[in-house]
Amino acid sequence: MLLDADLTGRTVLVLGEAHAARRVLRRTAAAGAAVRSVTTPSALAKLPDGAIAGVDLLAVVGDDPAWQTALEALHARGRRAGWTVPLVVRESAAAPGGQIILVGGGPGTTELLTVGGRAALREADVVLYDRLSPWEDLAELTGGAELVDVGKRPGHHAVPQSRIQELLVDHARAGKTVVRLKGGDPFVFGRGREELGAALEAGVPVSVIPGVTSAVAVPAAADIPVTHRERSHMVTFVSGHAPLSDAEHHHLAGLVTGGGTLVVLMGVGTLNQLVAGLRRAGMAARTPLAVVERGYRIDQATTYATLETAARGALAGATSPAVLVVGEVVRLGRDCPDEIALAVDAVTGAVP
Ligand code: SAH
Repeated sequence: MLLDADLTGRTVLVLGEAHAARRVLRRTAAAGAAVRSVTTPSALAKLPDGAIAGVDLLAVVGDDPAWQTALEALHARGRRAGWTVPLVVRESAAAPGGQIILVGGGPGTTELLTVGGRAALREADVVLYDRLSPWEDLAELTGGAELVDVGKRPGHHAVPQSRIQELLVDHARAGKTVVRLKGGDPFVFGRGREELGAALEAGVPVSVIPGVTSAVAVPAAADIPVTHRERSHMVTFVSGHAPLSDAEHHHLAGLVTGGGTLVVLMGVGTLNQLVAGLRRAGMAARTPLAVVERGYRIDQATTYATLETAARGALAGATSPAVLVVGEVVRLGRDCPDEIALAVDAVTGAVP
C-alpha cells in the first residue's frame, strides 16, 4: 500500500536492515517522500521524541518480532509523553541475495505484461531492457530502479550479448535483484536461454517469467488467429533475421500447403527473398500474406497481399518491427480487402 501512495512532502521513517529495506527506501523516495531510516530496534529505542514528531509514516520491513516489541515500547513512550505514534505500514523484505529474473515483457504495451512480470519489476534493483518491451513505463513500474537500455537505439549500437550476460551476473553477484526485460517471450527468438545459461554457469539464482510473444499477439492485434478450425491446424515461427535456403523455402511452402500458418519475425529486411523463395518452391500465387507493423502502438498498420502481389512489391513499404503472416488465416484479418478475404482457398480450392 505504501508503495503506491503519493508521498510528496511526507516524511517516512523506514525500520529495517539496509539491504532488506533497500526496495522500500528506493520506492518511498521515488514516491516523493523525505526518507529516514533506522536499521535496528535498539536504535529506534534511542531515537529522541523530536525525531519522531516530524514523521508521517513508519514503514516496518520484514517480519522480525523484535520490531514489533520496539514499536510497542514506542507506543508506551508516546502515551507517557502525550504524542501518538505515526501510522505504521508493513512491507516485505527484499530478497537477501542477488538474483536474475528473465522477464518476457510482451509486445510493447503494459496491458500485456504479466502479473508475474510486474511483480518482478517491483522487486528489481536494476533493469536491463530493450525497446520492444514496455520500456516507456519502467519508471512507474519499478519505482526508482536503475534502468539500463541495452538494445539498439538511435545513434547507439546494442550492447553486445556477451556484455549483457556479464552485466546480469555482475549485478546479481553484488547482491542485487536484476531483471532482464525482453520484448515478447524470452525464449522466442530472444536469446533468453543464453542468458539463463550464463546465470546457471555463474551459479547465480535465476528464474524465467514467460511473456506474451509477438508471434501470436501481433497477428491478434489485427484479428488474425494463428490457427483456426478448418483453415490452419499448425503454426510455424520463422526467423527472418537471415535469408533462408531453398530447402527451407520448400519446407515452409509445404507446411502452408499442408494446412499450416507461417509467422515470420524480424522478416522485413528479407521479405523479398522470402517471397521469391516461396514462389520458386511452388507456393500458390493466391496464398494470402499480411504484414502487421508496430503492433499495439498507436500507429499500428496492417497490409494485405497475395504471394503474387507481394512479388510485385505490395509489401515493400513495410518497416520493422513487423510480423509477417502467411496462410489461409490471413483472410480472417480485420479490414482484409474482399479480393483477398473472399478469394477461393489457395490450397484446398474451397470458398471461405
Ligand atoms: N522475443 C520476441 C521476439 C524478438 S525478435 C517475442 O517473443 O515477441 C524481434 C521481432 O519481434 C521483431 O523484428 C518483430 O518481428 C517482432 N515484434 C516484436 N514486437 C513487435 C511489435 N510490437 N509489433 C510488430 N512486431 C513485433
